[in-house]
Amino acid sequence: TELFSVILFLLLFVRFLLSGTTGEFVLNGTIAFSFALFGILLIRSVWKEVRLREQLAKTTEDLKSANIELRRLDKAKSEFLSIASHQLRTPLTAIKGYSSMLLGGDYGETSKEVSGIIEKIFLSAKRLAVIVDDFLDISKIESGKMKYDIRKFDLKKAVKNVVDDFVTNNQKARDLSLQFNWEDKNFTTKSDPDKITQVISNVIDNALKYTTKGRVKIYLSKDEEQNKFLIKTEDTGIGISKETLARLFQKFTRAKEISKLHTDGSGLGLYVAKKIMEDLGGRIWAKSPGKNKGSSFFIELPVS
Ligand code: ADP
Repeated sequence: TELFSVILFLLLFVRFLLSGTTGEFVLNGTIAFSFALFGILLIRSVWKEVRLREQLAKTTEDLKSANIELRRLDKAKSEFLSIASHQLRTPLTAIKGYSSMLLGGDYGETSKEVSGIIEKIFLSAKRLAVIVDDFLDISKIESGKMKYDIRKFDLKKAVKNVVDDFVTNNQKARDLSLQFNWEDKNFTTKSDPDKITQVISNVIDNALKYTTKGRVKIYLSKDEEQNKFLIKTEDTGIGISKETLARLFQKFTRAKEISKLHTDGSGLGLYVAKKIMEDLGGRIWAKSPGKNKGSSFFIELPVS
């Protein structure tokens, strides 16, 4: 551009010098000097463009290496999570197993007071096991290694087992009279029963955890037209604010006040639940009229 502009200017300048009449002199002069101005602007803008391109190339290079570094860190984080979770799982299984045996009377009779304490140990270990499993699931989800075992099962039985398990092992489920109602329909389906159980368990556990008084109800229904099953949990608990509701299914989301009230949560359960439901072709969502007005959770699954 520089060479082209200089040559053209020189040509125009020579033409200007060789002008015969005053009219030509003025005209050629104006053209030559206008071109000089235009040439300067042109060269400047070309230089600007070149610098921008160089900058862009450098930024792209920086981004590339940052991306590689982030991937490496992400992989390291997933591996760390996986190793740490596996190490935590074994001792937890022993704590859960022995406390459940103690509760079942395998080591003799225990007083009511001691039983109450053992139940607390059992429940805490169980909750911790859920958190550890959530961490493991996250490392599996993020490394694309989550596996599903799809088989035929009865969804009604699966929900009932979860509810019965809560009623047997959780005093709060009894205090809040956890109820399960279902439509008189066929609930046989093909999906991953263990993963579905995990999602239902998480939602019921939350409903009990975040409800101090009132009740928790579970409904199971089937939409024959849309070929979908719907599990709905309804609690009379602390409810969910609009801001929390908007990011409820994101990683590490916990309502502000809750982190103080229930320190044992991780904010991972619903994130994992959403990923599982999406992978199984279903959906999970929540509704709440607001703080202290209870919450409802909906788990939708295709019939087969
Ligand atoms: P965690 O319960 O371990 O904190 P979750 O991912 O299961 O993690 O839940 C995320 C957050 O969603 C909770 O911390 C709580 O703020 C809110 N939440 C979930 N279920 C309910 C519910 N039934 N009532 C009120 N808040 C809830």
